[in-house]
Amino acid sequence: MTTPFFDLSDDHRELRSWLHEFAAGVIRPAASEWDEREEFPWPVVEEAAKAGIYSMDFFATQSFDETGLGIPVSMEELFWGDAGIGLAIVGTALAAAGVAANGTPEQVGEWVPEMFGEPGDLRLGAFCSSEPDAGSDVGAMRTRARYDEATDEWVLDGTKTWATNGGLADVHVVTAVVDPDLRTRGQASFVVPPGTKGLSQGQKFTKHGIRASHTAEVVLADVRVPGRCLLGGKEKLDERLARAKNGAGAKGNASMATFERTRPAVAAQAVGIARAAYEYALEYAKQREQFGRPIIDNQAIAFALADMKTSIDAARLLVWRASWMAQQGRSFEAAEGSMSKLFAGEAAVRVTEQAMQILGGNGFTRDYPVERMARDAKIYTIFEGTSEIQRLVIARTISGSQIR
Ligand SMILES: Cc1cc2nc3c(=O)[nH]c(=O)nc-3n(C[C@H](O)[C@H](O)[C@H](O)COP(=O)(O)OP(=O)(O)OC[C@H]3O[C@@H](n4cnc5c(N)ncnc54)[C@H](O)[C@@H]3O)c2cc1C
Repeated sequence: MTTPFFDLSDDHRELRSWLHEFAAGVIRPAASEWDEREEFPWPVVEEAAKAGIYSMDFFATQSFDETGLGIPVSMEELFWGDAGIGLAIVGTALAAAGVAANGTPEQVGEWVPEMFGEPGDLRLGAFCSSEPDAGSDVGAMRTRARYDEATDEWVLDGTKTWATNGGLADVHVVTAVVDPDLRTRGQASFVVPPGTKGLSQGQKFTKHGIRASHTAEVVLADVRVPGRCLLGGKEKLDERLARAKNGAGAKGNASMATFERTRPAVAAQAVGIARAAYEYALEYAKQREQFGRPIIDNQAIAFALADMKTSIDAARLLVWRASWMAQQGRSFEAAEGSMSKLFAGEAAVRVTEQAMQILGGNGFTRDYPVERMARDAKIYTIFEGTSEIQRLVIARTISGSQIR
C-alpha cells in the first residue's frame, strides 16, 4: 500500500469536507452559547445524530478504515468546530472504544448500540477509570469488583472521578480491581447497563475549558451487574489472572489497552483546536491595521504564524503516523501514540496562546473565539495521560529503563 499520510484519498477528502460543513454550520455557531451554559448540548448532538455523525455506524466505519486516517480526520474537523461540543459528540465513542478494546464481538454488538441510541432517542456512554486517588497512577485504583458465584453477578463498589458523560450516560464502562495483589494486572473492565441500581452521579465539575462536555464523579454502591458484563468474559479473566500469579508476562491491563487505542484520536482533537485558532489569527492579522499597515506585515506576527502552522502540520503528521501504525498492527517501538498526544497537546496550548497574543485585547475577551479555544486546549496536556506521563512512556520505551 502507498504511504497514506501525505495526500488524502478522495474518500477522506469527501469525509473531511462533509464534516467541515457540519462543524462550520452547526457546531461553531453554537459554541459560545454552550460554553457559557456549561451544559451538555443535547440539541447539537441531536443534529449530529440526524446527520449520521453521532452514530455507531459512523464511528465503526471510520475505525475500520484500513489507512487508520478516518478517525483522526473526523476528530480534527469536529474539534475545529468546537472542542466542548466535539467532546459531547465523541465522548460516547471513547467509551465504545473501551468495549471494543476489551470486549468480545458479542459484547460489542450488545452494548455499543445501547450507547448511541438513535435520533430522537439519544443515549450516551461513559468510560470511568480515574479515581480520586488514582489518576496517573492507575495501579492505585480502589474500586472493587467481587464475583458472586451464587447469582453469577459482579458486585462493584467505589468512586470514579472525572468521567466524561459520567452519571448522564446510559451505559458506563467501569474499570475495577478483581485481585488487589496483582495491582494493574488484577484489574478488569465491566459494563454497567442502563438503570442499574447503586450507580449515581456525584459532583459535576465546573471547568476551565471544554465546558459543553459533562464531567462528573460516578459513585458505585453495591452495584450488581450480570456475569456477562465482564468485558472479555470470565474464562479469559481467570486465565489472565493465573498467568499473572505465575509471574508470566501480562499483555498490559484493561485501562492501558483502552488508552493505547484512543491516544492518537485524542491528539487529533488538539490539532483541530490549534488549526481553528491559527486560521482565525491569520485572518485577523491580515485585517487588523496598526501603524498604517496590517499587523501581519510585522515579522514578529508573521513569524509567530509561521511557527503555529509548522507546529500544527508536525502534530498532524505524528497523529496520522500513529493512527496508521495502530491500524496496520505495527509495534510502537518509540511509543509513537504517546509522542503524537504529547506533541499535539502541547502544540495546541502554545498555538492558541499565540493566537490570543495576535488578537491583542480582543483575544482576551469572550467576544472572540480564541479565548475559548485557549481554555479548551489546556485539557490536552492533562487527560488521556498528562504530558509528563507521555514523556515517561516514551522515555521508558526508548531507553528500556524503568525511568521514574
Ligand atoms: C475534563 C476531564 C475529562 C476527563 N475524562 C475522563 C474520562 O472520561 N474517564 C476517565 O477515566 N478519566 C477522565 N479524566 C481523568 C484524566 O485522565 C486525569 O485527570 C489524568 O489522568 C491525570 O490524573 P490526575 O488528575 O489525578 O492528576 P495526577 O495524577 O494527580 O497528576 C498531577 C500532576 O503530577 C504529575 N505526575 C503524576 N505522576 C507523575 C510521574 N510519575 N512523573 C512525573 N509527573 C507525574 C502529572 O503529570 C500532573 O502534572 C478526565 C479529566 C478531566 C480534567
